[in-house]
Amino acid sequence: MSDEQTCQRCGETVELEKEDFELFERMHPDCFHFAFEHDLTKPGIGADENCGDDACPVGA
Ligand SMILES: [Zn+2]
Ligand SMILES: [Zn+2]
Repeated sequence: MSDEQTCQRCGETVELEKEDFELFERMHPDCFHFAFEHDLTKPGIGADENCGDDACPVGA
């Protein structure tokens, strides 16, 4: 058994505690944000635009 954690969205290794990794649906926190939260308030927003969410990694 490998304990390597792979992001379900981008396929890269995720360096997080297992609990946190599960919390983010087996993704990076940023990938989780783009997958579920980024366009909630602004549908159709681009990946390079800040969506206004505190967790948004864009333009921080
Ligand atoms: Zn990822
Ligand atoms: Zn965002």
